[in-house]
Amino acid sequence: MIREKTEVLVIGGGISGCTAAIKAGDSGKSVLMITKTSDPMESNTRYAQGGIVALGENDSKEILYEDIMRAGAGISNPLAIKIITEEGPRLVFDFLIHEIGVSFSKNEDGSYNYTKEAAHSKKRVLHHYDMTGFEIQKKLLEKIKTIKNITILEEFTAIDFITSHHSSENPLLKYRNNLCLGAYALNNSTGEVNTFLADATVVATGGIGKLYQFTTNPECATGDGISMAYRAGADVTNMEYVQFHPTMLYTEEGSGFLISEAVRGEGGRLLNKSGEEFMIKYSPEWKDLAPRDKVTRAIYNEMAKSESSHVYLDVAHYYTGEMNIHSRFPGIFEECIKHKINIEKE
Ligand SMILES: Cc1cc2nc3c(=O)[nH]c(=O)nc-3n(C[C@H](O)[C@H](O)[C@H](O)COP(=O)(O)OP(=O)(O)OC[C@H]3O[C@@H](n4cnc5c(N)ncnc54)[C@H](O)[C@@H]3O)c2cc1C
Repeated sequence: MIREKTEVLVIGGGISGCTAAIKAGDSGKSVLMITKTSDPMESNTRYAQGGIVALGENDSKEILYEDIMRAGAGISNPLAIKIITEEGPRLVFDFLIHEIGVSFSKNEDGSYNYTKEAAHSKKRVLHHYDMTGFEIQKKLLEKIKTIKNITILEEFTAIDFITSHHSSENPLLKYRNNLCLGAYALNNSTGEVNTFLADATVVATGGIGKLYQFTTNPECATGDGISMAYRAGADVTNMEYVQFHPTMLYTEEGSGFLISEAVRGEGGRLLNKSGEEFMIKYSPEWKDLAPRDKVTRAIYNEMAKSESSHVYLDVAHYYTGEMNIHSRFPGIFEECIKHKINIEKE
């Protein structure tokens, strides 16, 4: 069994893990980042399409705060939202654009092309066409390769934290605070369990989407870090709040391909089996850009009423964007064409 010691162990290599690794690496710490996939690009981050929230024109952190609170139906943690609204938009520029070199789509005059997504009262979402996550993940990994004290090990699946409680022979230790000393990880290729000891361990293993049969999430999104933390005695809260993205390309087998909310942000409208727009009935104010839980419930309701397996999303007749549809949504266009749907026409 291999036993390694590092100053910072980062479990997961999506936007969270890469960011933690870069920050720790830049501060001079030795960093080991492990991912359970063979390709470090593979993560939820890589599949994000629509974009990332910053602040648009005539916008402010106060308006963003109000929008998030309203979308969260008043039960979001105000302190968390305060941090996100105060630090998030600044970090998009300082970290992603200036430090990492992420290229967000621009207008012809060189200004950023902000788009709108559900529940946002302003156009404030920066995007790289409809492949924002791919661009971010690629640039983060490129940056990591330039930092000598960061090592990436692919195909290592973390299975449990090593804690002072469960690895000590002294039973009295359980009356002291539990300390995380690193993690055990399975070497996917050899089947061997390795011990990675660390002064600090960062869990960045992403969400649980792949636990569902139909999902836009990749295979790696199985909530490993959450269960490891739970087994180590961490408080796990709000597990009942799972975000269902309202629109995925419907095929009988379940395509798993997301149709970004930005399609509705650029005018696209949902239609039921009879070709009628329906969001106005469910959310007269926000219509197709109502918060995701409302849109999801409305779609479900329309499908149940009409005994249909799907609804329609029409961007061809309602598009409001500046670029043509194909240029604005190249990934979605190509994927839909594979299924014989031309989103510029139908
Ligand atoms: C289709 C899709 C579209 C999206 N669009 C948007 C969008 O437009 N805007 C937006 O803000 N958000 C979007 N999201 C959400 C966003 O992608 C995620 O919230 C974000 O990427 C999560 O980043 P993360 O670093 O926490 O996790 P991830 O990116 O999922 O990274 C998790 C990492 O942990 C690794 N890992 C998991 N388990 C283990 C283990 N046991 N051992 C070792 N490594 C492990 C994985 O291999 C991976 O490297 C979208 C998500 C999806 C799926």
